[in-house]
Amino acid sequence: MSIVVMKFGGTSVEDTAAIGRTAAIVAGRAASGKSPVVVVSAMAKVTDQLLRAASAASDGDRTGSLAISARLRTRHLDTAAELVKDAGEIATLTQFLNEEFDALDEVLRGLAVIHELTPRISDLIVSYGERLSSRIVAAAFRGQGIAAAHADAREIVITDAEFQKATPIDALIEKRAQEKLLPLIKAGKIPVMGGFIASSEDGLTTTLGRGGSDYTGALVGGALNAGTIEIWTDVDGIMTADPRVCPDALRVKVISFEEAAEMAYFGAKVLHPATILPAVRKNIPVLVLNSRNAACDGTRIISVAPHCKSPFKSIAVKRKLSIIDIVASRMLMSHGYMSKMFAVFDRRKCPVDMVSTSEVSVSLTVDTNASLPEIAADLSAMADVKYEGKKALICLVGEDIRGQNGIAAQVFNAIRHINVRMISQGASEINMSFMIDEDDADEAVRSLHAAFFQNPDPAIFDVEARKAASSS
Ligand code: ASP
Ligand code: MG
Repeated sequence: MSIVVMKFGGTSVEDTAAIGRTAAIVAGRAASGKSPVVVVSAMAKVTDQLLRAASAASDGDRTGSLAISARLRTRHLDTAAELVKDAGEIATLTQFLNEEFDALDEVLRGLAVIHELTPRISDLIVSYGERLSSRIVAAAFRGQGIAAAHADAREIVITDAEFQKATPIDALIEKRAQEKLLPLIKAGKIPVMGGFIASSEDGLTTTLGRGGSDYTGALVGGALNAGTIEIWTDVDGIMTADPRVCPDALRVKVISFEEAAEMAYFGAKVLHPATILPAVRKNIPVLVLNSRNAACDGTRIISVAPHCKSPFKSIAVKRKLSIIDIVASRMLMSHGYMSKMFAVFDRRKCPVDMVSTSEVSVSLTVDTNASLPEIAADLSAMADVKYEGKKALICLVGEDIRGQNGIAAQVFNAIRHINVRMISQGASEINMSFMIDEDDADEAVRSLHAAFFQNPDPAIFDVEARKAASSS
């Protein structure tokens, strides 16, 4: 029995057409002899709208909040009616959806009275997205002749009680997945469950943090020792650069976990870095695939990537950063100085991305953060502080830069017309990053891409697509 966990993002279940495509993809996997377990996100934009309803209610805007919920109710009911034709099935589903929305409206009304949105209530409200989408998808699959069985993610994915970003408890998830999912799979059923949502050991609804459905996919895949985890999204996979910036960008056919995690951290939106950890630990390959272009092979993320002739796999960009220069001629190298300085960032809950020091100064980069003026004020007791926004970090990732000479010279030669503010090569030795003005970012990406992806290794990159485009 070869289990494949198939996770479908919001755009893959956003409407009747998308759910229809998703059903065909799952049916195809089942027909090829695999045992799929399906994990779905909320329908596209639903999570944002639920959060908006929650904040409207807690601001006392009862009418506005209930109006958002009413629109969501219509959207879910309409999609269900379009997809599910069996009279008994649609009657049950409609009743379920109405009961869920009635319950949600009760919570929103209560919130409008108490005016206080706690993380726990926020998770409860936002959980409706996946609760509803997973039921609709399961019923729609049955309508397409797929033996789907809905499974409640909150009975399987058990976490601590840190609402809004709960930590999974692996041993419990393994036990629950084997108790709840394996019997379904063995009976020839295809379990369909919501991503992102979970519950604490006490049975309170929690969530894994925004974008957490990929994480659910990897957790369930790990718990069931799946053969593969497929992340179905709306792009062809991991690209050598953002195709909107660089029309020449190529699909990366295979990449290592470490490279993918590095890129995700540096702003490549395809995958959340933590999500692949449960897969890495169990050495389960993760495939990123496009539900709008199912024939494309996507990107395969594996433990050890094969050797690549090009030093880099991809160029990622993180924008909207600020740089902070701290100059303290007398105290900088004195004992305890760095820890006092970092304590200031910590107190303001401001994560630091990159650090570079000299004898008398420290430069740091942070996500543009509303608390920068306060941080600067706090630090001014210790040093002279300047900060500047609108910066971008360009990050080149590739395992094959390890131990190669002359790469840095090639990188900076390619962007010699651009002013570089800060440089770092991480301890992982698989990324090189540098900071420039945000306005220069697109130009830097294009120049680097032209320099490093002129003759891409056909074993690693989809060069066929480029050939097809240039000959047409
Ligand atoms: N629906 C959740 C979100 O939008 C989780 C996910 O889509 O992965 O953040
Ligand atoms: Mg997502």
